[in-house]
Amino acid sequence: MITPLLPTYARVPIAFERGEGMYLFDENGKKYLDFYAGIGVMCLGHCHPTLVNALCDQAHKLWHTANTYRIPLGEKLAQRLVDNSFADTVFFTNSGAEAIECAIKMVRKYHYDKGNKGKHRLITMSSAFHGRTLAGIAAAGQEKLVKGFDPLPGGFDVVPFGDIEAVKAAIGPETGGIMVEPIQGEGGIRPVPVDVMRALRDLCDENGLLLVFDEIQCGMGRTGKLFAHEWSDITPDIVTSAKGIGGGFPLGACLATEDAASGMTVGTHGSTYGGNPLGMAVGNAVMDEMLKPEFLPRVKQMGDLLQGRLAALQQRHGDFIQEVRGMGLMAGIRLPDVPTKAATLDFTERGLLPAVAGDMVVRMLPPLIVEESHIDEAMEIYDAAFEDWRKNGIPS
Ligand SMILES: *Cc1c(COP(=O)(O)O)cnc(C)c1O
Repeated sequence: MITPLLPTYARVPIAFERGEGMYLFDENGKKYLDFYAGIGVMCLGHCHPTLVNALCDQAHKLWHTANTYRIPLGEKLAQRLVDNSFADTVFFTNSGAEAIECAIKMVRKYHYDKGNKGKHRLITMSSAFHGRTLAGIAAAGQEKLVKGFDPLPGGFDVVPFGDIEAVKAAIGPETGGIMVEPIQGEGGIRPVPVDVMRALRDLCDENGLLLVFDEIQCGMGRTGKLFAHEWSDITPDIVTSAKGIGGGFPLGACLATEDAASGMTVGTHGSTYGGNPLGMAVGNAVMDEMLKPEFLPRVKQMGDLLQGRLAALQQRHGDFIQEVRGMGLMAGIRLPDVPTKAATLDFTERGLLPAVAGDMVVRMLPPLIVEESHIDEAMEIYDAAFEDWRKNGIPS
């Protein structure tokens, strides 16, 4: 049956009415501990006063101007991102998919302008997710994303996840870059090992390729550094960001080095809404919190705590938890022989919101303001659920 809303989602029949910090409240007043955070978007939790004030203040002043005028709040946010990352320059978008589009165009234009017109292909990894545009699904190459949407834009070579030999073998005269998520999100919370990250950088240097990291889910503080790739002490040429960068306001960004961005001159790219004053006010407010000296070390501390508690949970429930995955506050537990969707629904009914990810993983992306008491609360809910399952059977 057709519904007024295009039925592309199998929605859980819960509607939230209100959010406060780490918690969501549904229409019946039931309270949920939010370890989903709208797919990791709500990095400062719900209705953080700094963000509410920034949004309301700006709403009274100026919402939108065309990008044909200067937008000082955007210049400020770009400068702050540049000052705190590998990048020299930033393009703002409204979503992750648009940030990916900008990155792909940037790679192609880079080589074109350097006189290497044919170097337009990107190597990507299996079980990746790069958004739902035609280029994004072509880059991910997964059957469930691309089926029925031919013809797709060409120029993507998908190799098995983490397989550096396969990356090497895929490099040809038309290869222009490599694009990976340092930690796969949708694919099942899978970090790319540090040695593979370094090998990717080396391969790019040896072959004149641009290294693109999709940090839309794993970036913006989630691992305890502003960007997840910082744990591997290599620098990329281009990084895509979204989700946490807006703390709930639709915002994305494509960050790049001066060299990688050299082809993106006047008229080569644009966006009507991207970087508008309302979004930039909120983006700066997110940075106001994230750049406080104690913020990221605290995320690291809470991330270690969460990973440790999940490892202990696995000790108690090895029959249900096959593996604990992730880094920092991007965590997953792999549940063998348990339908992850039914399991996640069961946790939801018990008042905890995790998310489903690929590869039979229950995913946790709590707001970065999470405290030890919230992690304890989540573990109690898991404990009770697993004990119940053992007695009464697993949810199906
Ligand atoms: C969410 C996500 C995207 C797409 O972002 P949208 O804002 O939904 O377009 C791309 N890449 C990764 C790694 C993501 O997690």
